[in-house]
Amino acid sequence: MKKHNFYAGPSILSEYTLTKTAEAIKDFAGTGLSILEISHRSKEFTAVIENAASLVKELLEIPEGYSVLFLGGGASMQFCMVPYNLLNKKAGYLDTGTWANKAIKEAKLFGEVDVVASSKEANYTYIPKDFVIPADADYFHFTTNNTIYGTEIRKDLDSPVPLVADMSSDIFSRPVDVSKYNVIYAGAQKNLAPAGVTIAIVKEEALGHVDRVIPTMLDYRTHSSKGSMFNTPPVLPIFSALKTLEWYKELGGVKKLEEMDKAKAAALYDAIDSSKLFVGTANADDRSIMNVCFVMKPEYAELEKEFIDFATSKGIVGIKGHRSVGGFRASLYNAMPMSSVQVLIDAMKEFEKNH
Ligand SMILES: *Cc1c(COP(=O)(O)O)cnc(C)c1O
Repeated sequence: MKKHNFYAGPSILSEYTLTKTAEAIKDFAGTGLSILEISHRSKEFTAVIENAASLVKELLEIPEGYSVLFLGGGASMQFCMVPYNLLNKKAGYLDTGTWANKAIKEAKLFGEVDVVASSKEANYTYIPKDFVIPADADYFHFTTNNTIYGTEIRKDLDSPVPLVADMSSDIFSRPVDVSKYNVIYAGAQKNLAPAGVTIAIVKEEALGHVDRVIPTMLDYRTHSSKGSMFNTPPVLPIFSALKTLEWYKELGGVKKLEEMDKAKAAALYDAIDSSKLFVGTANADDRSIMNVCFVMKPEYAELEKEFIDFATSKGIVGIKGHRSVGGFRASLYNAMPMSSVQVLIDAMKEFEKNH
């Protein structure tokens, strides 16, 4: 049976990315070798990493003066690399969930952290609005999409200081004004590629202003001066990322992706909002178009397990909610087709009719 993959991450990849990756594992660029067994310094792989960086620049319209890096360590390593490289005295952070919290915890190792606002008291069901970003901060960090709670900030905040953003779960789902940011980072396994590579878009001018010594591997300059080839980069995930980026370009770029993502999310939120059984968990103004979180209404709570089983029987995979929210979470990343969203909506309607 065809599977409809709603996992939050690692998550769905396009058929194009999967097919091209499978081919390259057998025979990479006509070399007669697998991409798994070829030098990262070969001219064939050098072309892959260069093309991937230039497609990231093209799709996000990145201005001059920024490097696109392909790093290991996941988005979680960026929680420490960002303050290591950028936090001299003080940084502002917005607390919108688990990932934001982890970033805050690491930043505190390096200096003063001003947490300007938090929605923790409401289990992160909304995005705080009326906060003041300290004008004397080195940067202001926020998480654009809260993968676990299904809330999202779909704009480049106005700020007196440069922004830094964790865009792990919504990069390439909208145009971004990169010039407002010192660093944008994103683990690949939500909207781009298999786990193992993290993209960091780094403003060159922002580097070199902290007093501390930075270990070589944690210094952005090490990687930007070597085209992400200081050491062996995650070769296969970078190849897959290139294929996804080619597919994004072919589809019409991030504006087009945003249109498609919005249509998918609107269809599913409509089904939830008009349902007798289901209810969304996030504040309507702040809900994410990438991760749709919903639960059974309290009077139907005991049907939760039954719905998961029913959905499974329709080929729907990965909709169990994160343990800190419960219920269900449907992740609608760029590679998710509307047809699969429709299968989920139909399953919800059919289940509702049966109860
Ligand atoms: C998944 C996720 C992370 C963690 O990514 P790793 O690559 O596992 O370290 C960080 N931030 C956000 C927003 C995420 O969705």
